[in-house]
Amino acid sequence: MDSISSQDRQALADHYRAQGTAMPQSMDAFWMPFTANRQFKAAPRMLASASGMYYRSVDGREILDATAGLWCCNAGHGRPRIVEAMKKQIETLDFAPNFSMSSPLPFVLAERLAELAPGNLKHVFYANSGSEAVDSALKIALAYQRARGEGQRTRLIGREKGYHGVGFGGISVGGMPNNRKWFGPLLPGVDHLRHTLDIGRNAFSKGLPTHGLELAEDLERLVALHDASTIAAVIIEPISGSAGVVLPPEGYLKRIREICTKHGIVLIFDEVITGFGRVGKAFGAQRFGVVPDMITAAKGLTNGCVPMGAVLVSDDIHEAFEQGPAGAIDLFHGYTYSGHPLACAAAIATLDTYAEENLFERAIQLGDYWEQGIHSLAGLPNVIDVRNYGLIGAIEFAPRPGAPGARAFDAFSHAFNHGNLLTRVTGDVMALSPPLILEKAHIDTIFQTLADTLRATA
Ligand code: PLP
Repeated sequence: MDSISSQDRQALADHYRAQGTAMPQSMDAFWMPFTANRQFKAAPRMLASASGMYYRSVDGREILDATAGLWCCNAGHGRPRIVEAMKKQIETLDFAPNFSMSSPLPFVLAERLAELAPGNLKHVFYANSGSEAVDSALKIALAYQRARGEGQRTRLIGREKGYHGVGFGGISVGGMPNNRKWFGPLLPGVDHLRHTLDIGRNAFSKGLPTHGLELAEDLERLVALHDASTIAAVIIEPISGSAGVVLPPEGYLKRIREICTKHGIVLIFDEVITGFGRVGKAFGAQRFGVVPDMITAAKGLTNGCVPMGAVLVSDDIHEAFEQGPAGAIDLFHGYTYSGHPLACAAAIATLDTYAEENLFERAIQLGDYWEQGIHSLAGLPNVIDVRNYGLIGAIEFAPRPGAPGARAFDAFSHAFNHGNLLTRVTGDVMALSPPLILEKAHIDTIFQTLADTLRATA
């Protein structure tokens, strides 16, 4: 795409000025999350507007979005139906409490989500982010075990390299050392499965790796160690995203399901990134043919337009909370903004957009082309692995001696500044997750740009 015209640039500058948000005078006050603040502020990468597959940077360049923002804008940017629904909603009902009060949209959305969900996950608890959805799911699992008379089941099992957001629950079950080590002892009684990344045996696998099914037996090891009677829940991402796209070996998720069922352990799939079409179905659970007891979702739920998270809960778990007197509160948990009307309106319009444009099918329709594209990078300097599934991709680099993460960061920064391409890095992995509206021509551009970038930054 061409660079922005001077007329458009003027319009953008006017737009931001009108809101009192022209370029900031200083960047000191905003403490940016998960960012090397001093490095960023010395050479900022700033976005000003977005439409379809593209961002526009403040210096007027069209930037192809290969990450759907941050794994969230699955229908692309600025989708009119969502924008209109949000405008109407904020004018009609800006806020309504959901503690012993409510309004129509949370119910409408919950029905829609229950229709999309696998198996008997027919109940929806709302949060405002993936992190809150995760902490809600962990609390529901503990309370469920207690409600059914198994209150001694307090142990939570996560997995190495897992990312479940940044609440104390999420970082406790998560398995990314930097997200844990700064923050004290975390939740007690948590243990972790081994992760499934095995570059030695599975490098450059196309789709799911074939080696590693035996890693699911690690759950039996933890059951033997702690005794099933102490374990409340296992939480895993069907595909770990933030740790650098770690795929489940073939058959692994099914085996985890079997072991959880055998031992009465609640299985939670954290689908904050695998939900809403990223792998070719509404949820990864359906693509992998494995039904967990709860699913956590966020991001693509509102197409990233407004914060929202949700926990989809099975009939069985929900039922356990419905045994007391009808006048008793069933779950002592919730957020002021659980089921916020603006978020519900955005989510309903987002689900409509996904359905109208059959966007959940795109990751299957384009999966082979995407796979060929990303694997064309194998053999380029420093590339030690390429991984893909659905419309997810990862390129892993050999770390630069003494400077872990620097090589991937340089590629990311070069792709943005010189290739007009937005990617994402975590450690020495570049991760890709484009909006599902992308076309083959975008795939060509993404991988051509990355090939040029990897040569230029070698
Ligand atoms: N769970 C998973 C699997 C995620 O990938 C993320 C975010 O990337 C989260 C939870 C946390 O979501 P949020 O940043 O909305 O709190």
